[in-house]
Amino acid sequence: MSLRRNSQNQTFTISERIDLPDQAYDPRRRQYDSDKLLMLLSSLSVDADRVLGVTEVDLYVEGLNFVFGEGLSPGKVCVISTYRLRPEPYREESKDLFFQRLIKEAVHELGHTMGLGHCRNPSCVMYFSNGILDTDRKSNSFCEICKAKFSFLYRPR
Ligand SMILES: [Zn+2]
Ligand SMILES: [Zn+2]
Repeated sequence: MSLRRNSQNQTFTISERIDLPDQAYDPRRRQYDSDKLLMLLSSLSVDADRVLGVTEVDLYVEGLNFVFGEGLSPGKVCVISTYRLRPEPYREESKDLFFQRLIKEAVHELGHTMGLGHCRNPSCVMYFSNGILDTDRKSNSFCEICKAKFSFLYRPR
């Protein structure tokens, strides 16, 4: 694990690959319970403000057919799945589209960890994606209302 810096001088590390717990797998649904993955991430002793898990397996939470990701709100950990974000192969824009989707879902779940809920603005990153079309329609940033909420939650005290 090595410390890296992004363009805003924030540091991050990419951890080693972590095995998924068998008990998180539901053989009937053929999906992983994302609540259990969040519990796993919470149990790791990581010296970071936030932890974002990225997995290739299909995720669900009770009551929904699938989820693109989930985040504790507010909390330290969140997870996203690439499973339903992959565009159809062999399309020119595939790689960029996949990358854009990943960013949107990552920002969305990290937004939850910061205490933000879902937003009614379909172009806001905190809009709930029912399907991939919703993800493609929304932007990768917060709307003015969510920005204001964020500033309120993180105002200096
Ligand atoms: Zn959400
Ligand atoms: Zn918003």
